[in-house]
Amino acid sequence: MKIQEVILCKYGEIILKGANRQNFESALVKELRRRASVHGTFKIYSRQSTIYVEPQDEFCDMDGMYEAAKCVFGIVGVNRAAVCEKNMDSIRAIAKEYLPSKLYGKRTFKVEGKRSDKTFPLTSPEISAEIGGVILESVRGIRVNVRDPEVTVTVEVREENAFIRAGQEPGAGGLPLRSAGRGLLLLSGGIDSPVAGCLMAKRGLEIEALHFESYPYTSERAKEKVMTLAEKMCKFCSRIHVHTISLTHIQEEIRDNCQEDFFTLILRVFMMRLAERCAREYKCDCLVTGESLGQVASQTLKAIAVTDSVVDMPVFRPCIGMDKNEIVIEARRYDTFDTSILPYEDCCTVFTPRHPKTQPKREEVMAELAKLDFDALMEEAYATMQTETKLVFESYK
Ligand code: ATP
Ligand code: MG
Repeated sequence: MKIQEVILCKYGEIILKGANRQNFESALVKELRRRASVHGTFKIYSRQSTIYVEPQDEFCDMDGMYEAAKCVFGIVGVNRAAVCEKNMDSIRAIAKEYLPSKLYGKRTFKVEGKRSDKTFPLTSPEISAEIGGVILESVRGIRVNVRDPEVTVTVEVREENAFIRAGQEPGAGGLPLRSAGRGLLLLSGGIDSPVAGCLMAKRGLEIEALHFESYPYTSERAKEKVMTLAEKMCKFCSRIHVHTISLTHIQEEIRDNCQEDFFTLILRVFMMRLAERCAREYKCDCLVTGESLGQVASQTLKAIAVTDSVVDMPVFRPCIGMDKNEIVIEARRYDTFDTSILPYEDCCTVFTPRHPKTQPKREEVMAELAKLDFDALMEEAYATMQTETKLVFESYK
């Protein structure tokens, strides 16, 4: 018997009210369609809090599509299911054929019958009992455990078909990409900023990135590493325009004119102001950084208060309350960790002060900054901006 499989993507319903719900659903469907384009011809549509991803021919790469669906923000659960006709004969026959390989090696299971079509002749508990019987007959050694089963088999009788699936994997969660607007991520080559970008993308922000280099103090390879990171982030963020600005001259000017313990803070003022300008040009309504409270001298409360005060747009720091090991867990989840730990130099580590100010006052920083021709340096640095686009795959539009 040839069994037809579909991928079912479930999304949360909590925030789904009125028109919001439709926008949310269509954003998800759109993103899945874009992602599906490299895996074959699929029909993708939503019904009753589920998005159906149906292969249209035998050339479809179901495994690839399934993995792609797990990376789409806004989807809380993903599973593959066998399609049945809406009658018990078909459901029973397909359960017998489809489930043994899925349940192989498992010790306990339960069946959850669900019917949204109340005219279906069997009730949900009756469906569960029937299919439970089929499994006990066809899978050797497996037992029922309704309290704490190793696998839950779900039989759902819906509008047009019934679906059988074993288990469900978590999706990427969050809200659909782009549903919350656009933000500019300050992207370094470290562990924290790629995570910060992914966490905000998870809440629906489309991510644009800005990287500061300081050639020749930072190398071409350091920049390439950042580009690789942006590319890796695209697994979840789909598309990222990466802007690069050179801070070389600014850093030399700071080194030659300012008091050493303020070097990093003054540099960060420039970074924030350049980022704000870039954000406005590219229609981003917030900045995102990977700062974590107290992690380094420039991330004390007083230091963050200073860098925060020089821009006039929200600055999101999703890692602010996280320990390094928690950030690392996220970095592994988003698959950026292995790249982040490659050795590199960052502009922040060029000319680092021996005793950076940890309790800076805004006036002191501004007084140091006044020793430089701020506007001219801003103009000159901004003019060095170059842009590259990274995509989850080449044909992603
Ligand atoms: P990360 O691991 O993200 O590099 P970090 O712990 O090294 O962070 P800092 O170097 O103090 O911390 O940087 C704090 C934040 O400033 C980074 O998370 C990032 O958002 C931004 N940042 C630092 N260096 C750069 C850079 N070269 N280009 C763009 N943004 C940067
Ligand atoms: Mg860093």
